[in-house]
Amino acid sequence: MDKLQNKWFKESCEMWPGATFTFEVKEVLQSGKSQYQNIDVFDTTSLGRVLVLDDIIQCTQKDEFSYQEMISFLPLCCHKNPEKVLIVGGGDGGVAREVAKHPKVKEIVQVEIDEKVIEVSKKYLQFMAVGFDSEKLELHVGDGFEFMKNHSQEFDVIITDSSDPIGPAVNLFLENYFSLMKSALKPNGIVCSQAGTIWNDLDLVTSTLGYCRNQFPAAAYAYTTVPAYPSGPIGFVIGSLDKNIKFDQPTLVFSREDEKAMNLKYYNSDIHKAAFVLPTFVKYRLA
Ligand code: SAM
Repeated sequence: MDKLQNKWFKESCEMWPGATFTFEVKEVLQSGKSQYQNIDVFDTTSLGRVLVLDDIIQCTQKDEFSYQEMISFLPLCCHKNPEKVLIVGGGDGGVAREVAKHPKVKEIVQVEIDEKVIEVSKKYLQFMAVGFDSEKLELHVGDGFEFMKNHSQEFDVIITDSSDPIGPAVNLFLENYFSLMKSALKPNGIVCSQAGTIWNDLDLVTSTLGYCRNQFPAAAYAYTTVPAYPSGPIGFVIGSLDKNIKFDQPTLVFSREDEKAMNLKYYNSDIHKAAFVLPTFVKYRLA
């Protein structure tokens, strides 16, 4: 396999030239091209199983819970009654796994563009793909951008768990997408989108937050830590139709018993509040 040098996989992406993350591979479980992208799954010596799309790491067994819990519970716990949730992307199943745990969520609709990612995740990444077994879930294969055009005032929360803005996800970072999401939300609805890292993609973070601010009366950026992502932190843009919302004050606070019952390993109400506290160079850039 060309992308492996002496069993080491080296991530490469035009979005962060000149630096790379690399890991040692024990076994190549899957390697091949779908209609949309290259899909690789590796078993590794230190990160467990790793999903890679078009040579970019999507999730590792060691740290995926940080991303999946935060992109799910930040918006869900800001909403007073998140009964119906839409997930765009998320083909590994990890976000569906987390959203299904929320006690107030009754229905989850998910639209993932690449059926092959779902198939491969069910075969090799069952620790995330278990999310597809939820009875709350209705799964569609299709483009999230197109899907959004046909839905109006339907969802309480929309979570966009997309890959980076190259390839099939490019439309999910446009202002028009935030406008379509706004139309698809019920009153007081909330959106939360993967929005890049503060170290490598501050321009992307700034533009994505700007689009969200243009469409929503309240918007903010929050972040979590995922060691296998370029530079470590990864962030989310979160927008609400409720102009008085306080994003850093969760409306639902889980007890320690809740956290254990829900198998939460990263999210708690303190880290929810802290996720919105930004370093100085970011705080004033995004002000
Ligand atoms: N946690 C990951 C990250 O930030 O690196 C994202 C993981 S998830 C596997 C991303 C998914 O978004 C992929 O399965 C990809 O196929 C899907 N996706 C990309 N563009 C999409 C679109 N336009 N509509 C729906 N799903 C899309």
